[in-house]
Amino acid sequence: MERFSDRKQDHLPSHFYNIKADLAEQPKPPLHPGTGEPLDPSALRAIFPSGFIEQEISRERWFPIPAAVLAAYAQYRPTPLVYAAELKKRLGTPAHIFYKYEGVSPMGSHKVNTALMQAYLASEEGVRQLVTETGAGQWGSALAYAGERFGVSVRVFMVRASYRQKPGRRVLMNLSGARVEESPGPNTEAGTALFDKDPDHPGSLGIAIAEAVETVLKNPASRYALGSVLDGVLLHQSIIGLEAEKQLAGLGLEPDTVIGCVGGGSNFAGISFPFVGKGLRGGKKAEFIAVEPEVCPSLTGGELRYDHGDSAGLTPLLYMHTLGKDFIPPAIHAGGLRYHGMAPLVSHLVAQGLVTARAVPQDEVFAAARTFFTSEGILPAPESAHAIAAVIAEARQAKEENREKVILFNLSGHGHFDIQAYAQ
Ligand SMILES: *Cc1c(COP(=O)(O)O)cnc(C)c1O
Repeated sequence: MERFSDRKQDHLPSHFYNIKADLAEQPKPPLHPGTGEPLDPSALRAIFPSGFIEQEISRERWFPIPAAVLAAYAQYRPTPLVYAAELKKRLGTPAHIFYKYEGVSPMGSHKVNTALMQAYLASEEGVRQLVTETGAGQWGSALAYAGERFGVSVRVFMVRASYRQKPGRRVLMNLSGARVEESPGPNTEAGTALFDKDPDHPGSLGIAIAEAVETVLKNPASRYALGSVLDGVLLHQSIIGLEAEKQLAGLGLEPDTVIGCVGGGSNFAGISFPFVGKGLRGGKKAEFIAVEPEVCPSLTGGELRYDHGDSAGLTPLLYMHTLGKDFIPPAIHAGGLRYHGMAPLVSHLVAQGLVTARAVPQDEVFAAARTFFTSEGILPAPESAHAIAAVIAEARQAKEENREKVILFNLSGHGHFDIQAYAQ
């Protein structure tokens, strides 16, 4: 029936936005981990699909979103832009607060936006298997879903401590047909060395990355997929901000302040970069706030320098804010924010003064989550609650200044799999 057109994708942005096209000064390039020389992109061909590498290094402003990916997005996008009327009332603020709700995505977070694009690029090149690592399972479950959709099998090395303590997302990965194994395990050289000494070794993301990369290098039909940090991942997440821009424009509005939490930087970049770019091209200059946990403060407490993405030192050197590759973050509940580094593009914008970084303490984060849950009726992911803590602080500030400004933030996911964290 005409009225029930399945062309919902006609309402979606047709292109991803690449902020590198609008930067006067580019970030420093990645370096080869062995030689310390600028990396030749072809050296990455054994690891990533070539289509992904092309997007990673491009400075084109707009990238067309393939029809098959748009069709997959249309199942859950555009995600809602919600006016937080009850939260506004609760805070008694003149500020207008809007949130972009990525929790309606399959698996409940923004991560599937890049997972679908990466699985599509792999399938186009005949890649049979995508390999990755996961901590609590947000990224692993997103990639498992996307792989199933595009006919690419998925193998996930899951940090053993999470595998045993947080089985929820492991079950989701299995339901999507992915192979999930405890890391460190007996199937790789990197894993065996540790597994033989202690079969209960709790593991770490750094070890799981080492196992995943080794597996890819040994299997020519396999490639690696990463859920954050890289320029290409940030490019895919721009769909969040592009939709928000259109949704706000429909109300005749533009944001004054844009806020997101940062782990590797992808959901923050997703909601903010299209607006940063507008400002760089002569449009409205908004304020951008990246929010991180006080106990894992790469932007506010780290150094801007070259560092490895993993603890084993296998990955290329990235120029980013880092706490050092050997930094072991405390076991906070927002697992997705426990990363020693930061996306080079987010680091670059902070260094240029275009983005402000802020660290928030865990008690304030949980108080914010509770305020949001009891006013807006959505239990936020503990990661997203960091953004909410900053939103509440900004809204209170606006009240003091009696300023009617527009605050936009990214509610990157729901917290339904994090009930244990809330219980504690
Ligand atoms: C993984 C995750 C994050 C952190 O990752 P970024 O790359 O910084 O976005 C934030 N929120 C949720 C819900 C996540 O799953």
